[in-house]
Amino acid sequence: MNSYGLNIWSDDNFVIDQDEVLLNYKSKPSLLEITQKIRSNNVRGPILLRFPHLIKKQISKLYNSFNFSIQENNYKGNFRAVFPLKVNQYPFAVQAVTSAGKKFSYGLEAGSKAELILAMSKSTNGSPITVNGFKDKEMITLAFIAKHSGHDITLTIEGLGELKTIIEVAQTSNLKIPNIGLRVRLHATGSGTWAKSAGMDAKFGLTATEILEAVKLLQKAELLSYFTMIHFHIGSQMEDIAPIKRSLREAGNIYAELKVLGATSLNSINIGGGLAVNYEQHSDAKLHNYSIEEFSSSVVFLLGEIMDAKNVKHPDIFTESGRYIVASHAVLITPVLELFTQDYHEDLLNLQEKNPPLIEELNELYTHLAPTNCIEYLHDALDHIESLLTLFDLGYINLQDRSNAEILVHNIIKKSLKLTSKINANELKQLQVNLQERYLINASIFQSLPDYWGLKQHFPVMPIHHHTKKAVRGASIWDITCDSDGEIGFNPEKPLYLHDIDLSKEDYFLGFFNVGAYQEALGMSHNLFTHPNEYTVKISENSFEILNAVESKSTLDILNTIGYESDKLVRKLKTDLNASSFMEEKEKSDTLSKLEIILSQNGYLRTTS
Ligand SMILES: *Cc1c(COP(=O)(O)O)cnc(C)c1O
Repeated sequence: MNSYGLNIWSDDNFVIDQDEVLLNYKSKPSLLEITQKIRSNNVRGPILLRFPHLIKKQISKLYNSFNFSIQENNYKGNFRAVFPLKVNQYPFAVQAVTSAGKKFSYGLEAGSKAELILAMSKSTNGSPITVNGFKDKEMITLAFIAKHSGHDITLTIEGLGELKTIIEVAQTSNLKIPNIGLRVRLHATGSGTWAKSAGMDAKFGLTATEILEAVKLLQKAELLSYFTMIHFHIGSQMEDIAPIKRSLREAGNIYAELKVLGATSLNSINIGGGLAVNYEQHSDAKLHNYSIEEFSSSVVFLLGEIMDAKNVKHPDIFTESGRYIVASHAVLITPVLELFTQDYHEDLLNLQEKNPPLIEELNELYTHLAPTNCIEYLHDALDHIESLLTLFDLGYINLQDRSNAEILVHNIIKKSLKLTSKINANELKQLQVNLQERYLINASIFQSLPDYWGLKQHFPVMPIHHHTKKAVRGASIWDITCDSDGEIGFNPEKPLYLHDIDLSKEDYFLGFFNVGAYQEALGMSHNLFTHPNEYTVKISENSFEILNAVESKSTLDILNTIGYESDKLVRKLKTDLNASSFMEEKEKSDTLSKLEIILSQNGYLRTTS
């Protein structure tokens, strides 16, 4: 049976048991069970499920791994970490992060004013806040206010201009002064799609000359004692461990040099984020080449070695990995609305008394298809369809003939593939492309998987049920936006096979996995589809609970969000309807109520699934 690469991407979080996909945790509820429970309340369209136990698992793995490496290497500094809010700022994701992180004093990282406000209000006592990204005087003042309110906050400066503003605020206000970090510009570069965060041409960070200048400025302003951290971040989804090691050597030496130069309060090195997640579901796919254990042990060992060589006290190690913490916690469940090539079903064949000779011949081929002749017959059929389509264009055969021809050829290809395994590999790929089934999902790729649209980032996908049956249809997935980019095409190199389902008789749900990092805030309201309904699922020993339901925006609300006055819109619709002279009063009021219901629901389709 097809396991959809579960062993590659799921980290044992999910298992297939008989027909269904289960959460591999405590009472092991199935995704279908959870989905059906939610849908029993008349919920339609896509749903986003959050599993807080998976966030807890990742936070524990991160801390346990680093703490173990620290012990192993007799390292003298502590391990500390913050969650970068930009990876997922949604309330119930953040709540899961802060509550699971409490016992480790796991902190938050902010990159904008809104995120800083969030960090200030959601930080648990004693946990660190770090602030990255470009900052103006207002944002710097906010950080001073955070410090004054008792937070352990470090402002990481990206350029000398920011440092000058910090000095100015420190000299002109009575607020407490936050810790100061310097982001260093490394010449070692990262790897992977996002490798633009480091290197001499990077967007962020101070050069060696600027670092020396910064220390002088701090000294002169008598603020050097607030300088506690150096920071770097080489990019997201690091595939290779080598660049991070090179960066660590460079940053470690900068740290040691600064200590020697008299930065006495300097006590932390922040190595940024970038820990990779497995999104692949085919066995020959390239995966990142390190485990969390190898990662932590390399970081701890290297830093210890550099500091010992320069006789410098071991710094605390900070990390800011976000993708690694939250990617696995969210699963998008989408109903399938339609299988398009159901249109080629054999039952729909409607041969006439008398048919064009080529169609008669196709029918003969189909009827007599056998393992010994099927390759030859298949080639004949492919030849005939070309001729028949030309005959149609020239007006010699009618639409019914064309429909019959398409159905016959489709079924000849399908049956041949079952009858023989001897088709040449290249031809087979092409046939699978021709024969692919298009699955229409009740969701928007732009809203729920924007990195697929923007970066062709693959997300693991599989049906959440029907696993006792063989999946035989090469599948492409289409969303309900009317944009042709809203498609996950069939890739014969990494084929996705789904089930042949008669949707008039049964449901079919697809799950998209590892969608908990970046997708939600990046999701866009293309065609005005909104963030799907979301639910937090808390699993216990004997059952599960569905909590924190957040309904997606209604059709009126989404129009409001982009600046329309919904009252005005509704009034206009009602006035137009009332002015219509073809309706009885009763009919009018019924129609008005229907309109109101539609406006109050979200825009996803409410048909069958
Ligand atoms: C985005 C970002 C992170 C998080 O990166 P992940 O790949 O999600 O771990 C960490 N630090 C900084 C400075 C960032 O910009």
